[in-house]
Amino acid sequence: MNEDLIAPCGMNCTVCSGYLAFKNNVKDKGIRMPYCQGCRPRDKKCAFLKKRCGRLLNNQVKYCYECQDFPCLNLAHLDQRYKSSFRMSMIANLESIRDRGINRFLEEEQEKWHCPDCGGVICCHNGICFHCGLEKLKAKKKLYRWEDD
Ligand code: SF4
Ligand code: SF4
Ligand SMILES: [Zn+2]
Repeated sequence: MNEDLIAPCGMNCTVCSGYLAFKNNVKDKGIRMPYCQGCRPRDKKCAFLKKRCGRLLNNQVKYCYECQDFPCLNLAHLDQRYKSSFRMSMIANLESIRDRGINRFLEEEQEKWHCPDCGGVICCHNGICFHCGLEKLKAKKKLYRWEDD
C-alpha cells in the first residue's frame, strides 16, 4: 500500500478494479476490463467527485477532509454507494487518515485487503484477488459486484 495511491476523495486506488486490472495486466490473460494507473499518478478524474469539484480539479486540497464542506453531498453520495456495494467507506478512510495518520491507515488497509491465499490484493469492487483469482474473475457474471446473483 502506497500513499501516492490514496486519492483525495479517500479512495484507495490499490484496491480498485481499474488499478488491479492494469497492475496485473489482465487483458493479456483474456479479461477485458478498463485499466487505470490511479488518481494521483494519472491525475485521473474518475467517479464523480473530481469532475464536479473545482477544489479537487485545482488541487486546492490534498484530501477532502481539508475542505470546509467535508463531507459534501457528492462525497456522501459516493460513500453511501461504496458502503452498500463495495465494503468500504471513503469518509471513514479520510477520517482515519486525518485522525490517526497515513501510515496507520496504510497498515490497516494492507491488513483489510490482503489475499489470504497469495498475499496479493483483494479488489473492493468484487472481492477477488487479481493475482491468484483470475479464473474466478473470468467466470464472474457481474465484474463489479461481490455476489454473482
Ligand atoms: S478508476 Fe478511480 S479509483 Fe480506480 S484506480 Fe483509477 S482513479 Fe483510482
Ligand atoms: S469534500 Fe470538498 S473538496 Fe471534497 S469533493 Fe466535496 S467539495 Fe470537493
Ligand atoms: Zn491471491
